[in-house]
Amino acid sequence: MKFLRVAIDVPLPQLFDYRCDEAATEDIGCRVLVPFGRKKVVGVIVEVVARSDHSADKLRSAERILRDVLPLSAEWIELARFCSGYYQRSLGEVMLAALPPRLRNARPLRATKQKSDDDAARPAAPPFVERHRLTAEQLRAIDSISASAQAFGVFLLFGVTGSGKTEVYLRLIAGVLARGAQALVLVPEIALTPALQTAFRERFPGATIVVQHSAMAEGARARGWIEAQSGSAQIVLGTRLAVFAPLPRLGLLVVDEEQDPSFKQQESLRYSARDVAIVRARAAGIPIVLCSATPSLESWRHAQAGRYALLRLSRRARADSALPEVRMVDTRTDASRDGISGPLAQAIGERLARSEQTLIFLNRRGYAPVLSCAKCGWISGCKRCSARLVVHLKDRELRCHHCGDAARIPRACPECGNLDLQPVGRGTQRLEASLAERFPRARILRMDRDTVRHRGSLEAMFARIEAGEADILVGTQILAKGHHFENLTLVGVVDADAGLYAADYRAPERMFAQLEQVSGRAGRAGVPGEVILQTRYPNHPLYQALVRHDFEGYAQILLDERRQAEFPPYVFEAALRAEALGIDVALGFLRAAATRAPSERDGVTVYDPSPMMLERLAGRARAQLIVQAHSRVRLQLFLREWRAELASIRAPAVRWHLDVDPTEF
Ligand code: ADP
Ligand code: ZN
Ligand code: ZN
Repeated sequence: MKFLRVAIDVPLPQLFDYRCDEAATEDIGCRVLVPFGRKKVVGVIVEVVARSDHSADKLRSAERILRDVLPLSAEWIELARFCSGYYQRSLGEVMLAALPPRLRNARPLRATKQKSDDDAARPAAPPFVERHRLTAEQLRAIDSISASAQAFGVFLLFGVTGSGKTEVYLRLIAGVLARGAQALVLVPEIALTPALQTAFRERFPGATIVVQHSAMAEGARARGWIEAQSGSAQIVLGTRLAVFAPLPRLGLLVVDEEQDPSFKQQESLRYSARDVAIVRARAAGIPIVLCSATPSLESWRHAQAGRYALLRLSRRARADSALPEVRMVDTRTDASRDGISGPLAQAIGERLARSEQTLIFLNRRGYAPVLSCAKCGWISGCKRCSARLVVHLKDRELRCHHCGDAARIPRACPECGNLDLQPVGRGTQRLEASLAERFPRARILRMDRDTVRHRGSLEAMFARIEAGEADILVGTQILAKGHHFENLTLVGVVDADAGLYAADYRAPERMFAQLEQVSGRAGRAGVPGEVILQTRYPNHPLYQALVRHDFEGYAQILLDERRQAEFPPYVFEAALRAEALGIDVALGFLRAAATRAPSERDGVTVYDPSPMMLERLAGRARAQLIVQAHSRVRLQLFLREWRAELASIRAPAVRWHLDVDPTEF
């Protein structure tokens, strides 16, 4: 008699045994349909064994082994095991979260035409067009990485915007393909980078390039996964979830914009794709390249300590391009009308006269962040969240940007009946309106999540910009990432100050990265760019560093602060979070959890529970408890023991989870 040991998507630590006489060891890594409780579920076969610890007559039989897809490799299972241990989730939870949705059910996949083995083994890249003569710095970077092509190593490719980082990894990938190996490239948001896909297709016309991201149709995503797994795809390009793509001949990993917050998943399996990618590179014994103009403080510190190899690209690659000049306008002395100061208005006017483009950056969509009654002090709040409702004037709605709730804009104050309600503050819609008033002849294009709802609409807008059909772009971070517009020579940052004094200790790090990124949009092709930054705090170290494009100086300031305050990367953290209808219930659970923390906790600090910054979200109250340790290993040991205890706390009204290396509070 034979037994399967199956990983199932439930928060229980063990594997589940089933009888299955038709099983062979080749079935390890196959999906399998098994009865579980009163349901049938798809799990993954982790072992095939001759005996079970349970008596055979008590065990149920597996329904069907799903052999329509190749079994997951031992390496893949090992990676899932690592994530299960590190992120404190069951192996089944990890595996099923990592599989494409289409493979989480038992419906057989209709066979698609597979390329022959022959095809797969052939080095696919024909000699490609070498467009540029590489700069000395690019050459040095490529040489160092190529020199250890067969060994694990983390390379931090630290280069200013436009310094040719993409070019560096495209060349490295060419080398990988020539050896018949596969490359995995992770980017923050694939929906924003159709340009990158095009660049890949142009550069590697003979290669099969697979894209993996969450907005894809299920069938296409599963087909891409299968092509990667069979080895017929040479390149996988995707967002964080692509880190789990099965790649039997993986030769190189690239994480572009490695500091980007989107690499951390904030629900179900809360993993950091960058960190998992590093673990994967180590297991495979291959190099991984982390690219950024503004690396995360974690990576920066590793590079300083010599654990990562630091490769610098200090200048823009194109001889005719220089970093933009950043100028500050002190809005305490240069009063701004409708958010646009005199000097910024003048600079925009000059661009209009020269038919050049301007980008105005404001990371707040909607018309105004809140509606208020000046008579009684009422403000528009969300009933379900501890957040304000944002005024969306065009749709005559108040909307919650956290839970999505919407209501008509009231005609009168719900508290005192006052008819004169005022929108307070400024979002992209309002900015668009005031720019239209000031520059009646300019063609203004607003780009934020409200105007770019649908797939394709972003690409269409990019095309309009490139065709010169817009003079002024108003937008949120959507515009900050990775797009160069040849004719854009001015960037205006109108209202960034709010981010300076945020309670989240990661806020300044993110803000610097974002502003450096958006500044990098200006002046890439022969025309020097200018950035105008409106602020009430021109002496703030963040802005001072931005003016000098001095990431290193600012990183040092932030690292010193973090060391003094004992924040990551100097300590390691985990958050235990609880959600319930009332905050007292959530806090009560966390207090009970704290009393059950392992007593043997050398070097581990358990802090008092507290409500989260956004205390109520979609009607649920949220609290958290932070655990800190000076060693990752100690933290891991602590969490493993603690998690077993947590499962035994009776709290039916509470939903809870652990978040290891949390990035949001
Ligand atoms: P990054 O990824 O650092 O922002 P890219 O690789 O996108 O930079 O390069 C920026 C621009 O410079 C692109 O237009 C690219 O084609 C060009 N470029 C890259 N390397 C070179 C080079 N060695 N010589 C000339 N132009 C280059
Ligand atoms: Zn009122
Ligand atoms: Zn809400």
